[in-house]
Amino acid sequence: MQLQINAVKLSEELVNQGYQSKIISSQHIHDLREEIASQHRQGLFDEEFYTEELAGFDFEIADGLVGSKSLIIVAAPQPPVRVTFNRQGESYSGIIPPTYSYETDRQIQDLLELQLKPAGFQAKKANLPWKLLAVQSGLAQYGKNNITYVNGMGSYHRLVAFISDLPWAQDPWQAPQMLERCENCKACMKACPTGAITADRFLLKAERCLTFHNERQGEIPHWIKPSWHNCLVGCLYCQKACPLNKDIPLSIEDGPVFSENETALILQGTPKSESPRNTIEKMESLDMIGYLPVLGRNLKVLHEQLGVL
Ligand code: SF4
Ligand code: SF4
Repeated sequence: MQLQINAVKLSEELVNQGYQSKIISSQHIHDLREEIASQHRQGLFDEEFYTEELAGFDFEIADGLVGSKSLIIVAAPQPPVRVTFNRQGESYSGIIPPTYSYETDRQIQDLLELQLKPAGFQAKKANLPWKLLAVQSGLAQYGKNNITYVNGMGSYHRLVAFISDLPWAQDPWQAPQMLERCENCKACMKACPTGAITADRFLLKAERCLTFHNERQGEIPHWIKPSWHNCLVGCLYCQKACPLNKDIPLSIEDGPVFSENETALILQGTPKSESPRNTIEKMESLDMIGYLPVLGRNLKVLHEQLGVL
């Protein structure tokens, strides 16, 4: 006998666990694809950014799940993490902003399985433009910094989406919305050191954003001043300056501590294949293993700022 679950009950269960969600028709995958394609046709994306960040979505994912009906998009609160490195007898920290940890994805996947499986439904993680999906489904709104804001979480959250054969109950869909508060606010624009946020267009100049450059391998462009870097990867300046995050408790979580030897290996750019098991496990706990090729370079810049290199 199948147990009872529906979209409304599942949303309530997600709320009980501290998440927020929307469960909408999977037909909107086509709208997402068209929105990205349309912005690309209008020349709104830097080509390198488009190829590296936007061309890899799986808009065919519904074909892989027979009877797929809905998209479940979930926002989970996520704090920044402080990682400690040791060098020459001193400890130094590096911050990893929210969104880099997949831990909440795993927890939500487990919760969905627990709720859906006994009733004969399934949910599969979907590689789709999650920010756009969250905004168009009404789960989030865009800030002028093109970061998503969710009620009660501000920008300190991580989004994740799943394709499912669970029927949807309501199907909200709207044009991408910018927060009303942004109309008369320039705090993020002033805080951004690179000029990525501009008054003349809504879309971020992603090719100017620190996050785009310090997440990718290779040399960081010379126009980026070393003093602008503020995180191990990514950047928090525009989020920290935002008044909408003021009431969101920013309790930075303490992450692993890397010994002098581990710090030296990271600074040398030691690949995963030559890193000690312990170091790999710490990187995996941070979901940073994919960023290992850039961490040494980024950490060097942060240490140069502090005058320890
Ligand atoms: S800092 Fe101001 S303009 Fe920027 S996202 Fe926040 S409210 Fe909007
Ligand atoms: S993440 Fe940093 S570089 Fe990118 S827009 Fe925000 S403040 Fe500017």
